Amino acid sequence: MGKFVLGAKRPLIIAGPCSAETREQTIETAMQLARSGKVDVIRAGVWKPRTNPGTFEGIGEPALEWLCEVKEATGLPIAVEVANRAHVQFALKYGIDILWIGARTTVSPFAVQEIAEALHDNKDVTVLVKNPMTPDIGLWAGAVNRLINEGVPQENIGLIHRGFAYFGDSKYRNPPMWHMIFEMRSRFPEMMMICDPSHICGCRPLLQGIAQQAADLCFDGMMIESHITPDKAWSDASQQVTPQDCITMLDNIMWRAKSADDPEFNDELNICRRQIDQIDAEIFDLLNRRMHTSDKIGEIKKANNVAILQSNRWEDICRRMLTITRRMGLSEDFVRTVLEAIHVESINRQNEIMNK
Ligand code: PEP
Ligand code: MN
Repeated sequence: MGKFVLGAKRPLIIAGPCSAETREQTIETAMQLARSGKVDVIRAGVWKPRTNPGTFEGIGEPALEWLCEVKEATGLPIAVEVANRAHVQFALKYGIDILWIGARTTVSPFAVQEIAEALHDNKDVTVLVKNPMTPDIGLWAGAVNRLINEGVPQENIGLIHRGFAYFGDSKYRNPPMWHMIFEMRSRFPEMMMICDPSHICGCRPLLQGIAQQAADLCFDGMMIESHITPDKAWSDASQQVTPQDCITMLDNIMWRAKSADDPEFNDELNICRRQIDQIDAEIFDLLNRRMHTSDKIGEIKKANNVAILQSNRWEDICRRMLTITRRMGLSEDFVRTVLEAIHVESINRQNEIMNK
């Protein structure tokens, strides 16, 4: 099998177990996935960065032997997670095609630097960088730049969105925070962006919805955890799906084209885009007027030596706007985010005026 070329196939479908547990489980899962013809790469964790000690931490080197058998039997390239120099060296020794840096590793510049150095000037292997656990674009971009600085060609580097740890209420294990992805896209516009619904959702019922949202946002592929007996998996049992369910899910994804040549489609789109540009301009014109009005309030408060933050008034505004916008069908989350941004900016400006 020749060198794996990232970007040669879009969408790129990566599937396989969270962890390689036994030879049978690894090979049987991979064979079932490969037989469908819908999967391009087999994944399996060999070293597992577990949150808690005392849980299954991966088979290590023997699992690489099983993965070589998988590659031989299926003809598919193999992806494993690496978290340090030794992992990279083992993976290269066994001819692993794709290495990925996991979310718990991307957070550590030392670990990423060590991995990058172990890959110094490597032109063959593909490296996929998962987003860090925390929503920190700098760390994610920094990891990519460390690889580039060590001579890993940019075209061999891809990104995986696996959601961000969040200490609050969420139906997701790692909420997707899609805006982070838009930011990363603008920093690396040519780089393949793959979605990992399994680690975003953490449970089966949400997988299809997240996969579809990613397809709607023009992601370049999916990484999905699949296991022959998911309920008995030694890691991430609740989010893994059988190979059959994985294939069904892949079949149900509607992939969208990045653009279309059809002139009618382009005309319709352009009309809507011009409207949006116009509306955006109006929104900012209004926001600007609102800020000037709140500057005036700042002057009045200053003249009368009254504090900036008037909690009652702010609560009234929120209550009133939430009632009005609920009727419009706008989501409460969205409305609160917008109101808070406006409020913070108003307070900052009034602060400046007070202290001039
Ligand atoms: C994994 O892919 O099994 C894994 C450990 O993922 P993450 O780094 O996204 O948690
Ligand atoms: Mn996993």
